[in-house]
Amino acid sequence: MIQVENIFKSFGEVEVLKGINLSVQAGEVVSLIGSSGSGKSTLLRCLNYLEKVDRGKIVIDGIELKESHTNIGKIRREVGMVFQQFNLFPHMTVLENIMEAPIQVLKKSRQDAMETAQRLLDKVGLSDKAHVYPRKLSGGQQQRVAIARALAMNPKIMLFDEPTSALDPELVGEVLSVMKELAQEGMTMVIVTHEMAFARDVAHRVIYMHNGIIEEEGKPEELFNHPKSEKLKSFLGRVI
Ligand code: ADP
Ligand code: MG
Repeated sequence: MIQVENIFKSFGEVEVLKGINLSVQAGEVVSLIGSSGSGKSTLLRCLNYLEKVDRGKIVIDGIELKESHTNIGKIRREVGMVFQQFNLFPHMTVLENIMEAPIQVLKKSRQDAMETAQRLLDKVGLSDKAHVYPRKLSGGQQQRVAIARALAMNPKIMLFDEPTSALDPELVGEVLSVMKELAQEGMTMVIVTHEMAFARDVAHRVIYMHNGIIEEEGKPEELFNHPKSEKLKSFLGRVI
């Protein structure tokens, strides 16, 4: 579903991605872990063409990511992204937030978009908040709306960049449980997270990034219980 071949990315003088190779199968859940500054967000952003790679190749669901508007449009529709900051539209109700892109981008009818939005709100456990404005919601509720909004585009892949990092600890669980359910339904997911217990529990594969490269990867039980790289051992020592 996702193929990344030897990608490089610099910002000015700073080389942030230094030859990343990655392939993710349909239905696979991959967790990206690593210290701050290791290039995790940049890698995710490249997968969605929010950043353009300097070298290397990315193919998403058979479509190569390169400078062509049709390709980029197609990719953006297939790949949903959820960020640490929820970025809901403040002047729209929860329901309107979820309906917006399907109407504007997919040209769905209001009726159709509303039915989808209601179904998704139900899925994330917020049916009763349809007509509320985002500022009235807790962070955990806002993030669940952001997930529903991404799902409304019917993506084949979901990318999550530290989706629970901005939340109070007691609100983390409700967001992770929505993500876990998505994983169980077979969504292809790449998740940057500091929630090691979640990565261990839900991911099929964990990738440890350090300094712009994939330092180590493997099944969660291998990687967490038998890390090989000294850098990973020391990282795990700090975060677990
Ligand atoms: P992570 O998500 O693992 O913390 P990032 O991908 O955000 O790492 O950042 C990796 C490095 O790239 C950092 O040193 C960061 O300062 C730098 N960086 C990220 N985005 C930009 C940007 N738009 N311009 C300049 N430097 C950036
Ligand atoms: Mg980041």
